[in-house]
Amino acid sequence: MTLQEKISSTIAVLHQAVQDFSPVCFANSLGAEDMVLTDLIAKLPLPNPLPQAGEGANDSLREHLHPIEMFSLDTGRLPQETYELMQAVSKRYSVPLKIYFPDSGLIEEYVTQNGINGFYDSVELRKRCCHIRKVEPLRRALYGKHAWITGMRRDQAVTRNSLEVSSYDTDHGLQKFNPLLDWSNADVWEYIRQNDVPYNKLHDRFYPSIGCAPCTRSVTPGEDIRSGRWWWENPENKECGLHVASSLLRKA
Ligand code: SF4
Repeated sequence: MTLQEKISSTIAVLHQAVQDFSPVCFANSLGAEDMVLTDLIAKLPLPNPLPQAGEGANDSLREHLHPIEMFSLDTGRLPQETYELMQAVSKRYSVPLKIYFPDSGLIEEYVTQNGINGFYDSVELRKRCCHIRKVEPLRRALYGKHAWITGMRRDQAVTRNSLEVSSYDTDHGLQKFNPLLDWSNADVWEYIRQNDVPYNKLHDRFYPSIGCAPCTRSVTPGEDIRSGRWWWENPENKECGLHVASSLLRKA
């Protein structure tokens, strides 16, 4: 399949999500894949009838009527480059980027009990930190939605081999779409360059997968692209709980 065919297929999946499952949201991790989706979603047509921009349209109204809501999770431990990208996305695209934050009480309790970097001490404490800073805010972000969209690709990790483009997410209780599932890493970067899409500058410094600053490091060429995430753990454990059923997390 050519890149243009993959783009067309992805747009078709986005349309299907809007048509069959509204209200729909896009969980924007601000990774390279999600910047492709940001660009494609921002170019989706708005619902009819709505005046065209520059022809008397209320631009604020246009933003709020976008068919897919976009949000990101600010864990409080993100790299500075990710915050710079958040700002660039807000300036470049008319689709609002809503930011969800962790519950401050839960963070204070965790840090009091385990220390500011307690997530290095065990897989259990790492997953607890991810739960407080990511999973709980995600639940709030998904509340009331009928479907969510992510930028996961099949070849990113062993934990993502069995994903489908569209499936029911039993853990969160709504449909989940992975429209870039069969895109390659090269496809993603070709799209970004062709469309001058903003991206996290850490990607230029050998960070193919970017999460929280203390849990992400650069990789050497040829290494698995997720090897820089939680590098001290086994590959089978390397999900933060956003995309893994809680039943599986409990077994891990
Ligand atoms: Fe905590 Fe690290 Fe998970 Fe971020 S990636 S939520 S700092 S354990």
